[in-house]
Amino acid sequence: MLNEAIPALHPRPERAAMPHIAIIGSGPAGYYTAEAAQKQWGDAARVDIFDRLPVPYGLIRSGVAPDHQSVKGVSRRYEAVAMSENVRFIGHVLVGQDVTVEELLGLYDAVVLATGAPADRKLDLPGADLGNVFGSAALVGWYNGHPDFAALAPDLSGSHAVVIGNGNVALDVARILAKTPNEFAGSDIVAHAREALSLSRLQGVTILGRRGPHQIAMTPKELGEMGHLSRATPRVDPADLPPEAEDATLEPGTRKSVQLLRGFAAAAPNMAQGGFPIHFTFYAAPHRLIGDESGHVRAIEVERTRLENGKAVGTGDYREIAADLIVSCIGYQTSPIPGVPYDEARGRFANDEGRIAPGLYCVGWARRGPSGTIGTNRPDGFAIIERIAQDLGDAANETGSQKTGRPGFDAIAAQRGIRIVTFRDWQKIDAAEVARAQGSAPREKFTDVDSMIGAAKQ
Ligand code: NAP
Repeated sequence: MLNEAIPALHPRPERAAMPHIAIIGSGPAGYYTAEAAQKQWGDAARVDIFDRLPVPYGLIRSGVAPDHQSVKGVSRRYEAVAMSENVRFIGHVLVGQDVTVEELLGLYDAVVLATGAPADRKLDLPGADLGNVFGSAALVGWYNGHPDFAALAPDLSGSHAVVIGNGNVALDVARILAKTPNEFAGSDIVAHAREALSLSRLQGVTILGRRGPHQIAMTPKELGEMGHLSRATPRVDPADLPPEAEDATLEPGTRKSVQLLRGFAAAAPNMAQGGFPIHFTFYAAPHRLIGDESGHVRAIEVERTRLENGKAVGTGDYREIAADLIVSCIGYQTSPIPGVPYDEARGRFANDEGRIAPGLYCVGWARRGPSGTIGTNRPDGFAIIERIAQDLGDAANETGSQKTGRPGFDAIAAQRGIRIVTFRDWQKIDAAEVARAQGSAPREKFTDVDSMIGAAKQ
């Protein structure tokens, strides 16, 4: 997927316009867009990639699970783009606050928002504000050391966790909660999470799906991992599985996942392995969360559902499931930026195939919502650059770009005293994180901005 050939882009204009492109967000969508700009204009393009953190790679660093190091390895490809002469990383700059989108539009020929979808979709239920109830952005950010969530301190002293949602994030969260300390060997899980999980008293996890096994959004590789954990064993109630013949109607990936669920249902629970069950509980729509006298969650009430035209419909049959910790993994939304039109219903920027307004574009999850794999962002990045090339081509004139680009931004940064973090600075942070690693860990991340900046100054 990552290396697939991308069809020829919009032909280069006769006179290279030397466009100045600002990309906001240094995750996969941002770097694939920069790569596409290089392919489109070669060295003629000047690409500035902004990030609000002093460290690059967005979702790769803060979203991909710490025990999925091979997936995180894709950042090496982004490094090659980042090291190019005409691409610059500008870390520690919050667009919308340190500099406005309007100001950037005055400086660059195109501004591309590649800010992803870092905020949790809200769990809109009574009791959602009880203690020890978190969204996946917060919990994943916590174990991945994102500065916004490093202080989360989930209480792992209870016996049972409930994870809401039937997507890959639900699997990530359940797996991390279920793993033993030894199973984090070779991962870059941060020290505070490694320590808290090693003291965890959890004895099982329930993964709640409001629909059935045929409606899961879990991919086979990720679901298959649940069958290979050292103490945890996946449990599926055979009664929840549709007749096997109906699997033929599924697309191949989902069919494979459902076959894995059938395998889990058929396997006898192995209590000898320590018996940390991961219950896949289907047809269970969350109804309300129930707290104890201290305001801490203790249970979730779910309503049994049935499917009507693929939708979950309540049956009026309610029951409680014990829950000392709840993590809702029900999807993400893009964070609004002042002055940028936002589609509230879809939780992303309002756009027409990536165009928001003249000169302003969006790409990746900020354009289409949180779906697909990391590699899906590559064709997305190439498509948006092709669109920009068309728009710039239409407006092209003999003199090329009239914008000031980098020097213009540097003047604003100097005037406002913004401490920009460069890619060279990031390389120092990176080296310091690698040097701090213990045992088989590839790195020990800094989890606060001051420490990152401190390492960059060394
Ligand atoms: P997702 O795949 O969209 O799954 C969200 C799940 O939440 C669905 O099962 C959905 O059920 C459920 N849900 C939504 N609202 C709900 C509600 N109010 N009550 C109960 N359940 C609700 O989202 P995700 O898991 O956050 O993943 C986001 C993207 O990242 C996906 O493309 C995913 O594949 C990708 N990802 C990939 C990996 C990997 O490859 N290793 C890891 C993590 C994430 P319904 O279907 O009934 O709406």
